[in-house]
Amino acid sequence: MRKAWERVGGSVRLAADANRSLTTRDTLRLSRECLDVPFILEQPCNTFEEIKAIRNQLHHAVYLDENTEDLSTVIRAIGEGVCDGFGMKVTRIGGLHAMATVRDLCEARSMPHTCDDAWGGDVLAAACVQIGATVSPRLNEGVWIAAPYIEGHYDENNGVSVEEGHIRLPSGPGLGVVPQESCFGSPVASYA
Ligand SMILES: [Mg+2]
Repeated sequence: MRKAWERVGGSVRLAADANRSLTTRDTLRLSRECLDVPFILEQPCNTFEEIKAIRNQLHHAVYLDENTEDLSTVIRAIGEGVCDGFGMKVTRIGGLHAMATVRDLCEARSMPHTCDDAWGGDVLAAACVQIGATVSPRLNEGVWIAAPYIEGHYDENNGVSVEEGHIRLPSGPGLGVVPQESCFGSPVASYA
């Protein structure tokens, strides 16, 4: 983290996203030994309980990601002050309605968050971008979509993509993309 900050510090903000991989011991050491390096600790440890146990000893802001699988956990995290924000996945939290609730809860407590894709095509990317566009700019930590890693689009005209770090809001009705059914091939099952 120190070397990364020496290279890009001042031009970007850094997040150390451990994806649940660190022990509480190593999370404490990382935060203590990088006191002067500003970054967000995203989901440092595997469980909610581990992060809660060391939360008050950390010198960096903490975001939860993988632990927030339902609204109840988000409410608990905000209420117990376990984190300062969220790396939020629209599909993991339960879709657009649940994500809108997260957005409103975060607005009420001034907590920044993302509205991320959890790897999918244009439909999911469009959903993330549409809900992301309704988040207060002061709390909007951006939208990550998988498009740069996926070849082609379901909607050749309005497919969602990243251009120089920005994502254009699809302008069509609904989510803004119209998947071409021919992209999906023959159905594997049909139900009357
Ligand atoms: Mg993450």
